[in-house]
Amino acid sequence: MSMGERIMALSERAAVHSEPGPGVTRLLGTPEHKALLADLSGWMKQAGLSVELDGAGNLVGRTVPVAGAKTLIIGSHQDTVRQGGKYDGMLGVLLPLVVLEDLHKSGTTLPVNIELVAFSDEEGARFSSTLVGSSALAGTFESTMLDALDRDGNTLGDALRDLGADPSTIPQLARDPDRIAGFLEVHIEQGPALESLDLPVGIVTAITGIERHSVTITGKAGHAGTTPMHLRRDALVAATEVVRIVDRLCRDTDDLVGVVGELNVTPNAVNVIPSQVDLTVELRSPSSVIRREAREQLFREIEGALNQSPCQWRHERRYEQTEVRCSDAIQTRLARSIEAEGFEPHRLFSGAGHDGLAMNALTEVGMLFVRCKDGLSHHPDEAITAADADSAARVLRHCLQHWEARD
Ligand SMILES: [Zn+2]
Repeated sequence: MSMGERIMALSERAAVHSEPGPGVTRLLGTPEHKALLADLSGWMKQAGLSVELDGAGNLVGRTVPVAGAKTLIIGSHQDTVRQGGKYDGMLGVLLPLVVLEDLHKSGTTLPVNIELVAFSDEEGARFSSTLVGSSALAGTFESTMLDALDRDGNTLGDALRDLGADPSTIPQLARDPDRIAGFLEVHIEQGPALESLDLPVGIVTAITGIERHSVTITGKAGHAGTTPMHLRRDALVAATEVVRIVDRLCRDTDDLVGVVGELNVTPNAVNVIPSQVDLTVELRSPSSVIRREAREQLFREIEGALNQSPCQWRHERRYEQTEVRCSDAIQTRLARSIEAEGFEPHRLFSGAGHDGLAMNALTEVGMLFVRCKDGLSHHPDEAITAADADSAARVLRHCLQHWEARD
């Protein structure tokens, strides 16, 4: 069985641990999570790793330590969105696991110690918190997050205890940056670039920065039959200006994407003029310079358009996460390994957030993307091929075996 076939087989077995329904739904601290960890623990041991469940619900597998060597952390998240796929997250655990198993079978010792981590949660689909596992390793976990509630009123702390983890030990999980060689994550691309270039893998240059705003537009409700058009203060008509401005600005700006993803109309009735619209604006860019310039232009244009409308408006920035640049040294290592395996080392940025956003506080981060079918993710039809899994595994194996090699 090739490494690729083994990765596909394990992916199928991991996907069984899901809530009922389409695709894979596996949230932090649930029975599905616990059952997965039991399987994963067995597979890690077969790969020659010593296994530990830490206080943040991360399952950590370690290679036999080589004296004096630093530790490279490799991993991804075990959790999914509701009705997600088999590969977003789990590929970044199972693919390195199969590579380490292959190296273990051939008796190969690596020049660097490896910690393979199945992070407890990245998607944040159960609690308002996210990046619980990776922020614990990075030493940035805030203990108040343990009080975060799921929709049934259970706390994150309780969910971790259900898993058999002891969250009181989280402060001791922070790694010593001097002992860490870096963080490397394998992940499906979640976009169509590699497919369009006919490449199995790509090197991530940056994990996108994200900002989110809420905009409230206030007009006046009225009878939709009796209020003359020129006297109306229709909040939805004004809101369409915002939708158009966001879309046009993002189309006209390189390395910027954005969306008005949420739009709530009040009173939302067939025969009433909309009195209020609450909407969200999200901008993403691998460059905070581009993103901030775009934001300023965006709100200048919105101000210009809405101040001419008969409505009032206000806006608030709700969230901002600066991008993370991937390490040049790790990108170079990945490029060398991709070339050694006979592929073109294509570079691209990640429009989605990842555990590297948290791990960057600890160490330099790198990511290897794997082509996925139709660029689809967060969907039951998420798919990769065994051949691509095999190519990516060979790239990773080469990269780990040559980790010491510097330019
Ligand atoms: Zn993911």
